[in-house]
Amino acid sequence: MERLIEGYRRFRDTYWPENKSVFQALAAGQAPRAMVISCADSRVDPQLIFDAKPGEIFCVRNVANLVPPYAPDSDHHGTSAALEFAVRSLKVEHIIVLGHAQCGGIQALIKGGAQGDFIGRWMEIAAPARERALAAVAESPETVTHICERESIRITIDNIMTFPWVAERVHAGSLQLHGWHFDIEQGALDRIV
Ligand SMILES: [Zn+2]
Repeated sequence: MERLIEGYRRFRDTYWPENKSVFQALAAGQAPRAMVISCADSRVDPQLIFDAKPGEIFCVRNVANLVPPYAPDSDHHGTSAALEFAVRSLKVEHIIVLGHAQCGGIQALIKGGAQGDFIGRWMEIAAPARERALAAVAESPETVTHICERESIRITIDNIMTFPWVAERVHAGSLQLHGWHFDIEQGALDRIV
């Protein structure tokens, strides 16, 4: 905790005075052009990877960067609410699904079975990625994990397209969807979709 408080002090002493005007302009409202859906993993920081400034990317982070299919029911849908705000209110022009290597959520999915109170159920969203990876691995030099990480990004993109106001804007040409995979060890992005 001390480390974080020290970090805050450095922010106040150096970053803040140098960027005060940026924050004060942003206080009037945000207008990011891109939404990033990233894993909550501490090694994958979209702001850092894209060298983005405050106000540039609207980010939602969850376990394994998943989006469930459109389901306007009585459940609590945190990620879907963020997606709705980005698309309908902020009118972002790009949505980037940012998957990554060594994803704990994907490892839990491959392992299968009930895990925790929430994780296993949440990872069911990407269940078809596990099936596809297990089916493809015999013909591929890649590992199940590697294939599954990439397939789950494709599933998330497909799920995002089930939201009618997303599909409408994609078809109208005012919104583009992208799926990228981040290799932690190499610090490199790979385009999947
Ligand atoms: Zn992850």
